[in-house]
Amino acid sequence: MSGQKTCDVAVIGAGVFGAWTAWHLAKRGQRVVLIDAYGPAHSRASSGGESRIIRMGYGADELYTLWAQQSLEQWKSFFVASKVPLFHETGVLWLGGEDDSQLRRTSATLRRCKVPFEEFDRAALERKYPQVSFEEQCSGPQASGIGKTGTG
Ligand SMILES: Cc1cc2nc3c(=O)[nH]c(=O)nc-3n(C[C@H](O)[C@H](O)[C@H](O)COP(=O)(O)OP(=O)(O)OC[C@H]3O[C@@H](n4cnc5c(N)ncnc54)[C@H](O)[C@@H]3O)c2cc1C
Repeated sequence: MSGQKTCDVAVIGAGVFGAWTAWHLAKRGQRVVLIDAYGPAHSRASSGGESRIIRMGYGADELYTLWAQQSLEQWKSFFVASKVPLFHETGVLWLGGEDDSQLRRTSATLRRCKVPFEEFDRAALERKYPQVSFEEQCSGPQASGIGKTGTG
């Protein structure tokens, strides 16, 4: 019908996955319409809101770590291209007790994937963060934390 708008692809849901899918399809020359029940960038979407984090640590799930690495590069390029400095690298600190297998698996995966991080035993944590009580999170002298603190 003449005068009617047409598209190649309709993406329903303009959260981060829908928006990213629509954008990549458009970059490949597809005519895309992106539809959301509440409009763009609303706080009802799980990817919407004041702030979100991106992290590399997913235990033994190396695939997620690899995806997060690739994703972070794309986010950084996107912010540079859009001239909106939304990414702030703050680092993150994970804490666990001495038998925390998830923390150990995360360390091993980060090491394999060459993600820069540091490991701290309890004494080092207490020296580095004297304002924090590690009693509850880190029971036992071998309790540890891994993280990349600070910027860079
Ligand atoms: C509170 C919260 C905080 C989170 N924080 C983080 C974080 O910091 N870092 C991180 O990596 N992950 C985080 N997650 C997980 C992450 O948000 C989700 O894995 C991811 O956002 C999912 O993205 P999405 O685009 O699929 O969904 P959403 O962002 O939820 O987007 C779905 C969109 O679809 C729309 N929609 C739904 N049904 C219809 C319909 N029938 N018609 C039209 N539109 C429709 C909704 O309005 C919404 O805009 C968080 C999750 C929650 C719940």
